[in-house]
This record gives sequence, C-alpha cells and structure tokens, in this order.
Amino acid sequence: MATANVTKTDYYELLGVAKTASDQELKTAYRKLAMQHHPDRNPNNPEAEAKFKECSEAYSVLSDAEKRAAYDRYGHAAFQGAGGGGPFQGGFQGGFQGDMGDIFGDIFGEMFNMGGQRKASRVQRGRDLRYDLSLEFEQAVFGTEKEITIRRAEVCEDCRGSGAARGKQPAACPQCKGSGQMRFQQGFFSVARTCPQCNGTGTLVTDPCKTCSGQTTVEREHKLLVKVPAGVEQDTRIRYSGEGEAGRFGGPSGDLYVVLSVKKHKFFERDGDDLHCVMPISFPQAALGTELMIETLEGPETIRVPEGVQSGREFRLRGKGVPHLNERGKGDLVVEIRVATPTKLTRQQRELMKQLSETMVIDNEPHSRGLFGKMKDMFS
Ligand SMILES: [Zn+2]
Ligand SMILES: [Zn+2]
Repeated sequence: MATANVTKTDYYELLGVAKTASDQELKTAYRKLAMQHHPDRNPNNPEAEAKFKECSEAYSVLSDAEKRAAYDRYGHAAFQGAGGGGPFQGGFQGGFQGDMGDIFGDIFGEMFNMGGQRKASRVQRGRDLRYDLSLEFEQAVFGTEKEITIRRAEVCEDCRGSGAARGKQPAACPQCKGSGQMRFQQGFFSVARTCPQCNGTGTLVTDPCKTCSGQTTVEREHKLLVKVPAGVEQDTRIRYSGEGEAGRFGGPSGDLYVVLSVKKHKFFERDGDDLHCVMPISFPQAALGTELMIETLEGPETIRVPEGVQSGREFRLRGKGVPHLNERGKGDLVVEIRVATPTKLTRQQRELMKQLSETMVIDNEPHSRGLFGKMKDMFS
C-alpha cells in the first residue's frame, strides 16, 4: 500500500484527546473536528478534506472497542494489511468503508440530516408579520381601537393547503424514489444528501393546485381590529398569536406584531406614566403667589402657587398622568414653574421696576446649586 510508509499522526493526537478518553469524549472531539472540516463547509479545499478523512479514520478505529485495543497495542501497524502482520490484515481499508455508513448515521445524521431513515419535513411555520401603527398622544394614554388591513399568506381554500389539485394526492418523488435522500460516493466514502427535487420529503405534487401553484398558501388582505389598551407608549408591541402568515403544508401560522408609534403632544412629555410640562409665570405672580389653571388631558385643574415661588419649582398633581398599562392606577402630572423675565417693558412698567429695584436689594453672591431653592428666605 502506497500510504503505508507515510508517517501517520497518532489517532488520539489527531482528535486532540487523551489515550484514556471515554467514548463520549471521542465522539464530542470528532464531531467538532468533522463539523469544522466537512467538505460541505469547505468546498474546493483539499486540505480540509484530507483532515476530515484523517479524523474520520481515527474515529472509526477508536470508536470500535476491538480496533481501539489493537491500535493501542500495535499502533498504525495494526491496520497495515500487506505484510503488517496486524490482527486486521487487509481488513481495515475494506472495513473502513463499510463502517462509514454507521458513523455518518451516528454523527452526521443529527447534524446534516442525511443519515437515517428520517425524512425532512416540508411543514413550515408561517412568518411573523409586523404592522406599524401610529397613534395620537391621547390615544396612547386612554387606549383606542383601530381597524387595520394586512396582506398575508393564507391557507389556499381550493386545495385546503395540500398544494395538490382537487382529487389528486402527492406522488412519490421519482428522483429519490420516495426515500428523500440521494446517496453518492465522495472520495472513498458514501455520503447521503437531501434530495434536491423533493427537499427530502420523498413526495412531489405532480398535479399542483392552480390557485396556489402548489404553494399551499395565497396572498390575501385581512382586516383586523386592533385594541390598544390605555397606557401604551412609543414602541409598545401588541402580539396577535397566529395572525401572521399561514404555515405551509399544514404548519402553524406565524404571529402578528403591531408596533406602536406615538405622536408628540403640544406640551406634555411622558416620563414613563408621568406627564411633564412647563408653566411660565410673571415675576409679580411668583412674588405674590397666584392661582393657575392648567388643561390636563382630563379637564381643567387649578394649581395654587404660593407667594415667593422659585423658578424650577415642581407641582405634582397625583393621579393626573397616564394610566399604568395593564395595571390599576395612574402616573402623576408634574408642572414645572418658570419665572419669565420680561423682555419688553412699557415706560410705566420700567418706572415701577426702578422703584421696586431701589427698595429690593439682595446680595449678588454665588451659591451652590442645591441651595438655590432656599433663596426665597433672602428676599425681604
Ligand atoms: Zn391551492
Ligand atoms: Zn426526492
């Protein structure tokens, strides 16, 4: 044998395991290497193919207790048929090929779905759909109902989802004779591949339904009433289970996701379920105190502003915010006071301001930011 004299790498070394490795360890190591070097994943890469074969050979020996014992005792010489004198004289090359089917069934059956008798299933779950729904600010706060129209694949009524014309049954695939897989020789081992004509199902629709061209589903428009609960916000998703596209060949339908976007309000901003706004007041209102009327989302409310209020002071109206989604209770409405400095004064106002300024003197001294709120005590 031509290859007999080439120095061969130790089988354990090849698989990267210890001589004491368990069957499971061997299998795990081989699986990993085989995945990495499999010809399907490394097209036109002779190095990978060689590596793949080496590993497969190593595994075929070490996974067999009898051969492993012989290998442990005699090394590669155990399998060098002609003149080698090993116990597997001439048997290895022949036996190797025969064993590959089992190895593939065992190792690749699960990975590439090409080993055993299992046929690939054509049953497919339908795709999920997304629908973007835009809401007014108030609709998000209070909830609403909206009818939407979606285009989706629905089960073909003419063939009831079989894909075959009325009264016809799918026939056995002629290419693979109904087995769902094709076997062929690759290098020196036999490989099973999913049949490309029937995608491994073993059956073909020979007389397809005309309505769906054998696809089992057709595109249709569908109307749906979306119930938006109170308290939703930007990017809230509402899931409608099974309202997505129909599955194929009897598979379950996908889901529909209605994704909400919410328009901005004229002055309210949301912070979770709290509503925020800013209310300007004049300096005299701030100094003397005042009553403010604010139009909340649920009608007018009065805020009593005490005299000496500072810019930045917040008033919290409990329970006047956004309802909690799927829960009892509501957020608050927070109104921030801003003292508006006048930018235009009449002659009379300017005169009054001057008089005021002469009687109202404060220290223009810096303070840390936290102390600012206490400054009202400094006005006399
Ligand atoms: Zn049909
Ligand atoms: Zn086929």
